[in-house]
Amino acid sequence: MLAHPYFQKKIVLTTKHDKLRLIKPAFDQYIGCEIFEINMDTDQLGTFSGEIERMAPPHETAIVKARLGMNSTGTAIGIASEGSVGPDPLIPFINSNIEHLVLVDDENQIIISEVFRSFEITAATTTASVGQELSDFLIKADFPAHRLIVRPNSNKKGEYVKGISTLDNLIQSIEKISKISADRLVIIESDLRAMHSPSRQKNIQEVANLLAKRVSQLCPQCQVPGWGRVGFEKGVECAECKEENPNANRQEKLGCTKCDYTQLGEVVSNSLDPAQCQFCNP
Ligand SMILES: [Zn+2]
Ligand SMILES: [Zn+2]
Repeated sequence: MLAHPYFQKKIVLTTKHDKLRLIKPAFDQYIGCEIFEINMDTDQLGTFSGEIERMAPPHETAIVKARLGMNSTGTAIGIASEGSVGPDPLIPFINSNIEHLVLVDDENQIIISEVFRSFEITAATTTASVGQELSDFLIKADFPAHRLIVRPNSNKKGEYVKGISTLDNLIQSIEKISKISADRLVIIESDLRAMHSPSRQKNIQEVANLLAKRVSQLCPQCQVPGWGRVGFEKGVECAECKEENPNANRQEKLGCTKCDYTQLGEVVSNSLDPAQCQFCNP
């Protein structure tokens, strides 16, 4: 078997928040490339705690980040991630964590990307005053395993204390920040930067697995990395009335990141459950 085109190849990961240990193991396992980290201040592209609004959608932001590291190290292939935590786009009353991970390959002129969405994310927030009882909140926030941020309630652009990991530091931060808050109240919330959020770290490991697997697959036609599912063939017949539901996924469609070659993949469903049928169960 031929070696993967990225075998022993240098790939740069642009990060600010200690993500190499989360992302490297999957790439070691599936590809054997030499992935290394460059620490760059990517806060100009938006921060997690919201002092700087993210300008572009997360997928585009991740590509810009990857290129920052590629340019500054002169590496042709780069990886970067971008995550968000907030009300889920489909189920808005539940918080979800969506992690984007992209690989930019300037030699092949391709971008390979994966997304992982998880409801397993610890993200708590509360408003508090000096001396307030916080034990219930601290349990919900899984403190100190998950670190905290304290910021003023009244002025959004004020000073933040981040990465709080001890009760003493938390109490001191509440006292300090309450003095600069017009109503003397502070907001305490989860510090969702990757190095301070173990639940986010797990989701970054998951998206790294997905991306490394996809990168490991080569196009059967042009041998460029990134072969995988690009969509579905639609249209499934009802098991009962034989009418077709044109929106149901019938079979996976596999495609290349570089050329137009496609193949059909695994069959998702050959017949539709009558309970899902718009004629049998309108
Ligand atoms: Zn191809
Ligand atoms: Zn039917």
